[in-house]
Formats: sequence, structure tokens, C-alpha cells
Amino acid sequence: MPELPEVEVLLRHLKPQLEGRVIGSPCILQARPIRPDVPRSLASALQGCRINTLSRRSKFLIFDLATPPERGRGSLRILGHLGMTGRMFLQPLDVPIPKHTVLHFSATGERFVFQDVRRFGRFTSDLSSLQDLGPEPWDAAFTPRYLRDLLQKSKQAIKVRLLDQSIVCGLGNIYVAEALFRSGIDPRTAAGSLTQAQCERLVPAIQNCLQEAVKLGASLALGFDGTGSRDGLFYYGSDGEEEATPAPERFQVYDRAGSPCRQCNSVIQRIVQAARSTFYCPHCQRRR
Ligand SMILES: [Zn+2]
Repeated sequence: MPELPEVEVLLRHLKPQLEGRVIGSPCILQARPIRPDVPRSLASALQGCRINTLSRRSKFLIFDLATPPERGRGSLRILGHLGMTGRMFLQPLDVPIPKHTVLHFSATGERFVFQDVRRFGRFTSDLSSLQDLGPEPWDAAFTPRYLRDLLQKSKQAIKVRLLDQSIVCGLGNIYVAEALFRSGIDPRTAAGSLTQAQCERLVPAIQNCLQEAVKLGASLALGFDGTGSRDGLFYYGSDGEEEATPAPERFQVYDRAGSPCRQCNSVIQRIVQAARSTFYCPHCQRRR
């Protein structure tokens, strides 16, 4: 499932391509991802809009559109989310519309496609998902003190607690495991019992994990050209593409149960917390 780094990588890829383009002939083929909008009214709202800016908040892409002059100079904000299997890409106008397309529109000479096999993604003018989001991991507000104050009364395990997007945005199952490893914290530790020293290690560990993941490219294939042939094994930085380390080899603990810890050779453990797998090193990550 895409986490913050994947969405940031996608943003950096799409932003220079989409900004300034004008939407034509929007066509909505699946109703579920656009709810509570309805296909006909969303399509007519999108028609003729100029894509002013593309940005990111948490795991959401935000399309800020300017409505065409004949409809008055207004604005429209659309929230995009990849869900589990969403792909957003541009393709030439003469390439057939792929299977599982949720919606497509022409964007000044090319076609933008949102494809989603499982249809858990979003493309909607309903912005309610942005409410109650915590700070971005790189915000000045995300400090060890802030984290400790927020976790203080929680008896929940720290791993489970950090998946709550109202604390800090963008952590999912992969990077929460990696950040806890880096800060030497046992994922089963009660969130409220974290010490100031642990919080002081955890905040930069979260920031560094996410930052490195953005730099290395996505951990999942994002199908930038719609075929999946150029995927997360490449950098998508401003200085062009270079081959990067394949995602599984970057991880210290995630999905490495039974393998030796890269730091101490202990066997990486897998446990289940809140119905999801947690991976950790029993030697490097202690309760205190
Ligand atoms: Zn270890």
C-alpha cells in the first residue's frame, strides 16, 4: 500500500507534467472512488479547468484547479488518493484506455488516467479526509515534546499508536517498523510510557526514514507510464534517474522475519498487532 514516500515520489513526477494543463473531455467510469460526487456533475465541474498546482498532504494528492473564465473565476480543489492499487499517469491520446480506469481526461495534448483495480482510491471534491490530520513529519510542530505530550495517556502499543494519522501524517506499516528499529524502541512498548529520551530518538528516526525513502524512490511499483515497466527501483529526483537499491534490501526489519538483523545478527521477529504484521529485532529494540 502506498505510504507518504510513494505519494511524494508520485507528486514530484506528476507535478511538472500536470501543472498549467487544461482538462478536457473528462470521463468517469467508476462511481465509487469519486463519492459523494456523482459522475455527471464532477465531469462537468472538471471540464475546462486549468490545473494550477498539484501538492501533497499526508497520503493525499491535492489538485488545485482554476475554473474556466466563462464559469466565473473560481477554484475547485480535488483530493486524490491511491488507496491500495491506484495509479495516476499520463499517456498519449492514441493509446487505448487501460482496463480498470476510474476516470480519464485530456490534459493539453496527453491523457491523464486514474486507474484502480481494487477501487479503494479516491478522486473527489469531498475534502473531509483532510480534517483531523496531524502535522507532516517535517513540520516544525512535530517535536519530541509534542509527541510525548500526545502519547502520554495512551496504553496502546507505540507501533499501533503511530499509525494514527492525527499524531503525525504519513506513517504506514513499513516505515513505522523501520523508524522504531532505528530508534531502538520495542514496538510493544505502551505509547504512554515512552521516555523523553526515546521520543528524542523517535522523531528524527521517523523523519530520516521517510526522507531516505523519498530520495531512493518508491518502495512499490507506481506504474508511472501506465505499464508498470518504470517502477520504484529508480530514483525520481530532479537530477534524473539512476538505478537504486531494490526496496527489500533497504529495509532493516520490515518483511525480514527469520533473517538475521543487519546490526546484531539476532533473528528478526514477526508478531501481529491490531491485525497487522510487525517486524522487529528483539536485541536492538528494547522496552526501555
Ligand atoms: Zn538487532
